Amino acid sequence: MNQRKQFLKGFFFTFFLLGCVTLFAQIKLNDKIPVDPKVKIGKLANGLTYYIRENKKPEQKVELRLVVNTGSIMEDDDQQGLAHMAEHMAFNGTKNFKKNEIVSFLQSIGVGFGNDLNAYTSFDETVYMLPIPVDKPENLEKGFQVLEDWAHNVSYLTEDIEGERNIILEESRLGKGADDRMNRQLFPYIFAGSKYANRLPIGLDSIIKSFKPDAIRRFYKEWYRPDLMAVIVVGDVDPAKAEAMIKKHFSGLVNPANARERTYAQVPPYKTNEGKVVTDKEATNYIISLAYSAFPSVEATTVGEYKMILLRIFLPLFSIIVLAN
Ligand SMILES: [Zn+2]
Repeated sequence: MNQRKQFLKGFFFTFFLLGCVTLFAQIKLNDKIPVDPKVKIGKLANGLTYYIRENKKPEQKVELRLVVNTGSIMEDDDQQGLAHMAEHMAFNGTKNFKKNEIVSFLQSIGVGFGNDLNAYTSFDETVYMLPIPVDKPENLEKGFQVLEDWAHNVSYLTEDIEGERNIILEESRLGKGADDRMNRQLFPYIFAGSKYANRLPIGLDSIIKSFKPDAIRRFYKEWYRPDLMAVIVVGDVDPAKAEAMIKKHFSGLVNPANARERTYAQVPPYKTNEGKVVTDKEATNYIISLAYSAFPSVEATTVGEYKMILLRIFLPLFSIIVLAN
């Protein structure tokens, strides 16, 4: 590296640090992390939380989201893969929208549908996203009705469940390959002693082929419930109107009697230093990774805690940039 480049790099790095110092000087580390005062946060009596943020640009666009605090971690042994399949079933028909009606509504407002295009399932969350053009006011009402139906009115007809098995199996087949084969060796090792080791959202083909329809209905009934849900509304909409629509559509949701506890999978700390080599004849590159014991993550509530999170993310990045130069 020539001297000029070295000087410039030092100059910008100092400038960056000074910027950070100035920024942090104005905020006390013990301060609570402020929430954007324009975000309206509320909770319905049934436990459902909602977030509303008016955002006038782009004009006449509103995004609705239904966030369900469940995922593959909450599956029972006979349900492996069914959290993800439950997400697919949302596009197979609901109380107010037959299968083709959901699809044609989504197409009419210009969004893709089904097969993970506007929804996803992870270990610990399932999220549905509905971007709605509100140039026609009825779109918003209809969008809320779809979101409500996804939350508690999905039909789960036996014929639809049977038909969806092959779609999931095909998705699973597309995901197979060297990386998948190696991950299936690595994850039980990296997450040893934890449910994360054996709960990949795609699940097990053997279960997808053979589960009884009631197993997926049970997952929906037990985990799609208002105390584990949030509705998010962001966009060109009057917040009071959005709040009224949330209350209209979601106040009637009922939590199941004797609701099961939503638990969180732990990852026990490593006791020894170990290494593992995994190979596959179709692997196309070499990866070396270093894993440290996980520690329970605590949600940052103060500026100081948030600063520590940023440091953990960015310091290694800076080290890499400096080393690379
Ligand atoms: Zn899928």
